[in-house]
Amino acid sequence: MSIELPEAQILGEQMREVLIGKDAESCDVKDYEKLIKIGFMNKNPDDYKELIGRKVEAVTYRGNVDVIKFDKGMNLAISPEYGGIVSYTEEGETPNYHFRLRFKDGSALTVRLTSMGGVLALNDEKLVNSYMYKRDFGDVPSPLDEDFTLSRFQELLSQKNRMLKSVLVGKDAVIIGLSNATYQDAIYRAGLHPKRKASSLNNDESKLLFESIRWILNERLRLGGKEQFQDLYGIKGGYIAAIGPHMKKERCPKCGTPIEGIAHGGGKVYLCPECQTLE
Ligand SMILES: [Zn+2]
Repeated sequence: MSIELPEAQILGEQMREVLIGKDAESCDVKDYEKLIKIGFMNKNPDDYKELIGRKVEAVTYRGNVDVIKFDKGMNLAISPEYGGIVSYTEEGETPNYHFRLRFKDGSALTVRLTSMGGVLALNDEKLVNSYMYKRDFGDVPSPLDEDFTLSRFQELLSQKNRMLKSVLVGKDAVIIGLSNATYQDAIYRAGLHPKRKASSLNNDESKLLFESIRWILNERLRLGGKEQFQDLYGIKGGYIAAIGPHMKKERCPKCGTPIEGIAHGGGKVYLCPECQTLE
């Protein structure tokens, strides 16, 4: 299941608690040829061996990306944005994995990608030049930054004469860390039709959208992530989105109108045609 900002933060904090000070002992990669097609992986699998013999010094996270920093300038950037499971095991058997890093004390970190996403071993220079890092650790604000205000959000929206999806999700978004799930949830809660253009929102609408995004992200942090997410220890998240594929045959809880799915922006968006207005 896709990992967005709150889930990357949950994993980052858990990894920070448990991995710092550990020495990497061995590294295994499975199904490499397949992964290189669906993911952002090192082109040469031997690059992962650069992690061996190094100590974890820090874990940082921002947007959809977690970065484990090792000594002597190496990093492991993990970002299973479209689907994946990151797990930690204290000892013994590990869950099914595509990437596994074992530490000297017998513990292990594993990553299994179920869709597109990244697992990259990079030195400091390559890290700061990587696509994921530039996108999420750059100047684009995170909706959970303390200094990210409503007026800043309104200013950013007012400059974009584009439909909301590309303004909130993906490489041209004005904020980082969201994918399709949060976008659908947030515009439903804010009563906005997917075909609305960002610059057409009035002050009340953009305020409602801002508050919806922040509320969803904070709820997901509070509840251990969204429901399909598993944390580092396999514990499932408890946040259920107000709308999404699970509402396909349901009625809108607010007004009773049947939920519709429409093709939009290279994916499917579920909406209430009554509550989400085009005007
Ligand atoms: Zn409705």
